[in-house]
Amino acid sequence: MKLTEVTVHELLMRMKTPFATSLGTMQNKRFLVLEAKDESGIIGWGEGVAFEEPFYTEETFKTSLHMLEDFLIPALLGAELEHPDDVHERFRSIRRNNMAKAAIEGAVWDIYAQLMKKPLAAVIGGAQEKIEVGISIGLQPTDEQLITTIQHYLDEGYKRIKVKIKPGKDIELLRTIRVNFPAIPLMADANSAYTLEDIERLKQLDQFNLMMIEQPLAHDDLIDHAILQKQIKTPICLDESINSLEDARKAIQIGSCGVINIKIARVGGISEARRIHDYCMKHHIPVWCGGMLEAGIGRAQNVALTSLANFTMPGDTAASERYWHEDIITPEVTVKDGYIAVPKQQGLGYEVNHALIEKYSVNKTTYRI
Ligand code: MG
Repeated sequence: MKLTEVTVHELLMRMKTPFATSLGTMQNKRFLVLEAKDESGIIGWGEGVAFEEPFYTEETFKTSLHMLEDFLIPALLGAELEHPDDVHERFRSIRRNNMAKAAIEGAVWDIYAQLMKKPLAAVIGGAQEKIEVGISIGLQPTDEQLITTIQHYLDEGYKRIKVKIKPGKDIELLRTIRVNFPAIPLMADANSAYTLEDIERLKQLDQFNLMMIEQPLAHDDLIDHAILQKQIKTPICLDESINSLEDARKAIQIGSCGVINIKIARVGGISEARRIHDYCMKHHIPVWCGGMLEAGIGRAQNVALTSLANFTMPGDTAASERYWHEDIITPEVTVKDGYIAVPKQQGLGYEVNHALIEKYSVNKTTYRI
């Protein structure tokens, strides 16, 4: 495989509803779509999912653009690649910037899958034919709205409900949910809103029979999470703290978590996501696939990744229509009875809708050898 041309499309799409976490609220999503061509003319697609503000990780839409244009695309254009895993190796001297790396690496995986004449899920070793779907619900203005929203998604068949919490919007909020829905699979994501000083408050969450609490403490912490995990029964799931296989190894070794949320973009691409998956499987740590409010290309990659065997818990990969009035792939990702069918088509498994890429494009630049 040799990339001869890469086009960076800058898209602006508006989500159906605003999404609120302990860190901020967004509705407009400005993001990157990478279109890479290899020497045989095959086109692969990737998505840059970084937000415009650095509240989730340090990366933003603009830092991704800078890294891709000035470092990552030049490092790959014209290079001989035996396998998509080589991309990670070629980027070894470029620190972090995982979302930017994942954007172009995803396009290489798409090309590779097409060369193999197989779906992406199959080339990464995924065997599950359908994946269980959960939903992530942002902070809602009132409890009534939260209950109505949960009921709506349960009626649509979603298998587990994830809610966002923060200090003061936690114990009573979860109690209200449990009064209305005593038995649903439920988890809470804190996006680093607590510290060890909140330990008594966090202990109280054990009574709600949560599947897990996601990233309660600092975004870059492993040690305090290990201290907390010894004192609460609810399994801790790490999200922001895990940026590489090395992070996962350390977290598991010192007991920082019982579950890991794998996001392709956060860990620098599908190759590293797969390595983390394999390591967790060997150490009996279940994983699930988190979301970055992706459009169709990122969503399709999440579906493929989730087909791996150790994705035993429902992830955040919902239907396209949960977020978008129209998605940039055909067909859109759809949920039936709480499952997404893993597509059998070569490559990404979905066709990229060029007309919609054009419609939402605000800028594009092409780089050639
Ligand atoms: Mg999270």
